[in-house]
Amino acid sequence: MLVVQKYGGTSVGNLERIQNVANRVAKAKEEGKNLVVVVSAMSGETNKLIEYAHYFSKNPSKREMDMLLSSGERVTAALLAIALQEMGHKAIALTGRQAGIKTDTSHTFARIEKIDTSRLDKELGAGNIVIVAGFQGINENGEVTTLGRGGSDLSAVALAGALKADACEIYSDVDGIYTTDPRIEPKAKKLEFISYEEMLELSSLGAKVLQNRSVELAKKMGVKIVARSSFSDDEGTVIYEKNEGDNMEEVLVSGVALDKNQARVSLRGVTDRPGIAAEIFSKLADENINVDMIIQNASNDGKTNLGFTIPQNQLEDAKRVIENFDHDIETSDYDENVAKVSVVGVGMKSHSGVAATAFNAMAKNNINIEMISTSEIKISMIIDEKFSELAVRVLHEVYELDK
Ligand code: ADP
Ligand code: ASP
Ligand code: MG
Repeated sequence: MLVVQKYGGTSVGNLERIQNVANRVAKAKEEGKNLVVVVSAMSGETNKLIEYAHYFSKNPSKREMDMLLSSGERVTAALLAIALQEMGHKAIALTGRQAGIKTDTSHTFARIEKIDTSRLDKELGAGNIVIVAGFQGINENGEVTTLGRGGSDLSAVALAGALKADACEIYSDVDGIYTTDPRIEPKAKKLEFISYEEMLELSSLGAKVLQNRSVELAKKMGVKIVARSSFSDDEGTVIYEKNEGDNMEEVLVSGVALDKNQARVSLRGVTDRPGIAAEIFSKLADENINVDMIIQNASNDGKTNLGFTIPQNQLEDAKRVIENFDHDIETSDYDENVAKVSVVGVGMKSHSGVAATAFNAMAKNNINIEMISTSEIKISMIIDEKFSELAVRVLHEVYELDK
């Protein structure tokens, strides 16, 4: 039996915790499992490295950022291998490149294109516990790349898919997927199962417990994920493909997600001519800026206003793009103090009134909704960041997720 386990930053946050992970890995090995273990950098380490870079530059080169950030995971991988060897186990730590993880060329947000498993097969065949530094790969030019924040989840899923592992276990500091972040709403309930579809929405909308790309890939490759805690032996949550006839359709709403990493861009006095939106958003897309909600007002005197949201960490890139449109945009302003709160549930497909319930709940609590977007299975609202936690609790309650 081959199992891919992934331990996140908190789980390897200090040396005692790395020892704890080593003990857990050793136990699984002694039970007869073959193991590939993906590790994150120690908690706080990636943020610290980003701060270091920003000491020197507001806009550091993305190639060098990848050189820098990939080092965090490498430290943990080597330390875990050393701890396991000391316990008498055969273990070897590999970087993303050594593990055969090939990505595209987009530095700091690379996509995995292929995994050459020959080295992994060889090391597993030799009886090793293979520790892989998460969050990284190598591109066709031999350059180190990283996979976006939370990317070790993606490394784990991709390895599990490529190796056709029997299980992919993602260990963090929570013992599964809850109806909302249990740190914000202690009444949140742990889910026994959640579909890929709902999990993908929750993680795309800010529930960082699993990186959204990892869920997307798991769905595509049919990798069954179990989300568990490295601090307990509790059963986790299984993320799986829901089939027709599964009796989950009674669940109207399965969770509430919060994303504080949002910024709003407001463009006023935009020349209202055919093609202007295409030009602005194509330029943003060329810079890999992820535009989310978009609002355009009715035009007045040949001018219109355009508002949209992007991830906060892409704000500097967006400002640079917008500056190039000064002949077409009168003023632009940027607000980082916004958050996106979302309600997710496949049951919404077949029920009406779900959105009205959310808007009423916000109104009752005097929370102004600045932007709205909906899909078949989610409702998202942009609000003032200071109301974030309140909004999560209010929505959690109004859909009776604590029941
Ligand atoms: P790791 O560092 O192990 O990758 P993360 O910090 O990325 O772990 O993810 C775990 C965190 O996700 C939890 O501590 C929790 O605060 C947060 N979280 C957000 N939404 C949820 C949710 N719906 N269920 C469980 N945890 C959630
Ligand atoms: N260390 C990286 C991050 O903090 C990747 C990960 O932990 O998954 O985003
Ligand atoms: Mg994570």
